[in-house]
Amino acid sequence: SAHGRQVNFGPGPAALPTSVLEEASKGILNFQGTGIGISEISHRSKEFVAYLENLKSLIREQLDVPESHAIMFTQGGGSAQFSAVAMNMLSRYRLLHPNAKAEDIKMDYVVTGRWSEKAAEEARRLGGGSVNVVVDSRKYSATGKLFDNIPPHEKSVYNFSPDPALICYCENETVDGVEFSHEPTSPAAFPFDLLPDAKLLPLVADYSSSFMCRTIPRLADHAIIFAGAQKNVGPAGLTILIVRKDCIVDVDAAVKFGASPVPLTLSYKTLFDTNSLYNTPPVFSMYVTGLVLEHLKALGGMPYFEELNRKKFTAVYEVVKKGAQQGTFQLKVKEGSESWMNVVFDIPDEAAKKRFLDDAKKNGLLNLAGHRLVGGIRVSLYNAITLEQTLQLVDYCNKFLEDELK
Ligand code: PLP
Repeated sequence: SAHGRQVNFGPGPAALPTSVLEEASKGILNFQGTGIGISEISHRSKEFVAYLENLKSLIREQLDVPESHAIMFTQGGGSAQFSAVAMNMLSRYRLLHPNAKAEDIKMDYVVTGRWSEKAAEEARRLGGGSVNVVVDSRKYSATGKLFDNIPPHEKSVYNFSPDPALICYCENETVDGVEFSHEPTSPAAFPFDLLPDAKLLPLVADYSSSFMCRTIPRLADHAIIFAGAQKNVGPAGLTILIVRKDCIVDVDAAVKFGASPVPLTLSYKTLFDTNSLYNTPPVFSMYVTGLVLEHLKALGGMPYFEELNRKKFTAVYEVVKKGAQQGTFQLKVKEGSESWMNVVFDIPDEAAKKRFLDDAKKNGLLNLAGHRLVGGIRVSLYNAITLEQTLQLVDYCNKFLEDELK
């Protein structure tokens, strides 16, 4: 393959389209004819500021982001947003309810996997309110211990607070391979209909591993959507934020009503007021992300990727099910709750698993081992993985399954 590149099924930083990287290599040397490379150019130059504006437009257009929401860029990844979300939304709540006592303030977390659990832990650490676990999906697994499902879509299951400072969920659990469905009628869809009544819902979604792989259901009803670039849209270093403007609040003004001070670099108001240029942004990562987003648009945007990603997932899932029927593979995620981006399964026989991974590597199919916490196999199918590469893996799995029967 071009440049000796192999197929990278890793969970992130993840594969990027080869054509985009070839284009990017030119910009590393000379960004848009300025005579200066992208990693060397001032983030305040008119060329870069124009690039940043276009980057916002590419997201706004393709995801149909309404004008009620700002698109902003920052650093620190999804992890820094676990902190930023809690701090900014607690400040907002204090401004809305100046007499609230800390013990009355609720932060609602829907826990469906390791990432939403981490987000809840950070909110607990930061304090300023108490964390209400709306639901813990482990309760609905066969053993009571596994993040292997989207919980039943029932009012008695989702224990939302009446007026929380925030409601946080993770759309795609990268480690566990569990994802909310984007089909509104699926039982595994996010339960928008069960949310508390509010004109401006404080709904926050972690889209780190599913950003721009398909459309975002009910995007306009969200307060905040955040995602690191490094799975579907670019190199690590860039964090993308879509924030409804009522959630961009004066965090300093909230301090006199009992909110904790928010570091300037984590405050959405700082980012908004400075057009995401409060401090030096990750210029290179933004550049490559811009090229990726142009590439997505040229191919047909979200409708194209939804179709492609559905095909990829379906093809892999079919062979995984076949392997499970023959007893070589083991499914880990409840039917209907599976992630399109991270297909997670097991090969319970350790020797067979080692053969699977070693031979895959010999065939140029890399990074298929599951997360260190859960083991097994994980096939990450982010946007840059082509249908052809996916079918290469499916063929490989079919051959492996045949050999295992011998
Ligand atoms: N949320 C999800 C769903 C993730 O997959 C990850 C990382 O893989 C994170 C948050 C943390 O992101 P970061 O490493 O960019 O801080």
